[in-house]
Amino acid sequence: MNLIFLGAPGAGKGTLANMLSKEYNIPQISTGDLFRAAVKEGSELGKQVQGIMEKGELVPDSLTIELVRERLAKPDAGDGYILDGFPRTIAQADALAGFQKIDGVIDFSISDELVIRRLSGRRVCRSCGAIYHVDNMPPKEEGKCDRCGAELYIRDDDKIDSIKNRLRVYKEQTEPLIAYYRDKGLLREIDSSQSPQNSLEQIKNILE
Ligand code: ADP
Repeated sequence: MNLIFLGAPGAGKGTLANMLSKEYNIPQISTGDLFRAAVKEGSELGKQVQGIMEKGELVPDSLTIELVRERLAKPDAGDGYILDGFPRTIAQADALAGFQKIDGVIDFSISDELVIRRLSGRRVCRSCGAIYHVDNMPPKEEGKCDRCGAELYIRDDDKIDSIKNRLRVYKEQTEPLIAYYRDKGLLREIDSSQSPQNSLEQIKNILE
């Protein structure tokens, strides 16, 4: 099952991709996570994308497409995957169609107001990447990961100016993909304003 999770930043794609990948035993492939890993490593790619990401702009299509092409060629993607955060432009979607067959696209629908509330409260584990929220999903001990005990931090692009920019970029460049995949008959929509568990039920209903 080759799936795409589409939706605004903060809609819950990452959280749900993580839950579903465990349930169906297929990898979650998050371009955001891949880019953040490159930045942390200090690789050539990381140096190229760091400033772009902090501002909430998109990494150029050519770099992003190449990264995904390489990742999808790995053996663990052979039995299916969840693409989380890719494609984000029509050019990326066209390129993907040239080398992969997509079975379904889930669109996570949510209001701007809720996006802002969610992203500004998001905390991420520096070590294992687990995601928390100060209101809805607080860690047991403040600032510390329940899973591995490492420190939680606020992503640079979860600061308010960056959040607003990411929403603008989403509307301009990514939202047109909703019509793109609807026209291909691949699009299914969920209401992602409720709890992660609720979103999970909606997605499982669609898939099963
Ligand atoms: P979110 O979905 O919460 O905005 P992500 O973790 O998916 O965040 O992505 C973080 C950043 O990584 C984006 O703002 C962008 O700079 C870069 N990025 C991730 N995926 C893509 C993509 N498909 N195309 C271009 N840039 C991307």
